[in-house]
Amino acid sequence: MIPATQMAKLLATIKRRTRQEIGIVHKDHGGRLRVCLVYPNTYFVGMSSLGFQTVYHLLNSHEHVVCERAFVPDPKDLAGLEHTRSPLVSYESQTPLQQFDVIAFSVSYELDYINVARMLRLAKLPVMRAERGDEHPLVIAGGAAVSINPEPLADLIDLFVVGEAEEAIAPLAEGLLPQSRKGDVISACAALDGVYASAQPRRVTRQHVSDLDAWPTHSRLLTQETEFAGLFLVEVSRGCGRGCKFCVTPSCYWPLRWRSAGAVLHSAREGLEHRDAIGLIGAAVSDHPEIDEIARRIVGLGARLSVSSLRADSVSEALIDALARSGARSITLAPEAGSEGLREAIGKGIADEQILDALRRASKAGVREAKLYFMVGLPGEGEDDVAAIPALVRRCIEEAGLVRVTVAGAAFVPKPDTPYEREPMLPARELSRRLRAIREELRPEKRVRLALESANWAVIEGVLSGGDRRLGQVIVDAEATGGGLAAWRQAMNSARLTVEEYLGRGR
Ligand code: SF4
Repeated sequence: MIPATQMAKLLATIKRRTRQEIGIVHKDHGGRLRVCLVYPNTYFVGMSSLGFQTVYHLLNSHEHVVCERAFVPDPKDLAGLEHTRSPLVSYESQTPLQQFDVIAFSVSYELDYINVARMLRLAKLPVMRAERGDEHPLVIAGGAAVSINPEPLADLIDLFVVGEAEEAIAPLAEGLLPQSRKGDVISACAALDGVYASAQPRRVTRQHVSDLDAWPTHSRLLTQETEFAGLFLVEVSRGCGRGCKFCVTPSCYWPLRWRSAGAVLHSAREGLEHRDAIGLIGAAVSDHPEIDEIARRIVGLGARLSVSSLRADSVSEALIDALARSGARSITLAPEAGSEGLREAIGKGIADEQILDALRRASKAGVREAKLYFMVGLPGEGEDDVAAIPALVRRCIEEAGLVRVTVAGAAFVPKPDTPYEREPMLPARELSRRLRAIREELRPEKRVRLALESANWAVIEGVLSGGDRRLGQVIVDAEATGGGLAAWRQAMNSARLTVEEYLGRGR
């Protein structure tokens, strides 16, 4: 196949998607600051991110800014693009990324760091910051992963927005106006609250908005090609008041804030013009002090209701009733640990009986499927705790009469800025053994679907989570050699870095 045809296929994919979207913004580039907002994963994944959509909306709400989007091409289109000399282009106007003033990455997950390098390479830009000059776009990044620790990407990115973007965007957009040399722009922006310049490291304060109601956060772009295709998403809270020791939410999104019922309903009404189902998003939706009223009124509007997460100890009858009346078939709980003792030790503080009670009540109301999240390798975990996971799953099925349970299992990854940040991470081999034990135990269970993550990738995530600048070259090298596990190992070896120095005891 000739390169022109391969590029034409990518453009056809982009045009098909943008034709179907509701909420896409087309603006003339003339005289405006041109920003390409990049999600370092596929369109399907990126369009599921409310944070990504919010930044798109906020940037385009400035008259002097035009913000377009780019994603990692789907595998079939990526292979084609790799063979052409054509650079990656934006969705809205199919403009090559190199022609933008600013490339802004929205980075939610550490394992997407490799795609940051990939996108810069596909854009035909020097991947390393030091090799880019005034003729190249400024490259910035924000999002949950880099707000926890930007250092692994510091050699690739010029500026980081640390924390929540809403109040940071206006002054940043002013500072980014293309009126002076890149070095001057970086210096000016580096003085702003929450902006971390890789070339001028200093301590910055993670930003947060004080009044959620002042910043409506809901779906801004609707497409059929995303996990939440049928839903209009509305954020109900930010942060979490619980104290699970492994979790970044309480510190990264501190303080806990609730959106008022009135503001949630206002967004929901807007959403019902386009969708018949409202998805409530938050770290622990059932903890919202007005959740019963919100759920009742959304169902009263004739909408179907969906919620992202529930705490077993705060699932009310009213919420279960609203979910059941919405036709929900499944609820999601995160016991995290199989045994009560370990759950107590990690700060989860939920008893077996509370989990079973929530599932029994849901099942009685007609919601007879569940998704349960567990972790292995938590500090203090013993063989009994691992064995308690399948045992608890069986009790859930039998005592609640569930017809299907999805067991999502992942490895504990120590994250910066959590009480467990200095805890060692178990070697991949041992984590795999524990995950395998759960798989073997539950394999005969017809009503269980297993979704167990790779321990090897969890270890890479751990290295990147608490990593430093030396990993910049590792990310670039791993990307250049395919991005698989072998590529990561080789890149770490070449840099003379070991997993143990990032994840071992006493690091
Ligand atoms: S795991 Fe859930 S309940 Fe616990 S602190 Fe994190 S968001 Fe809150």
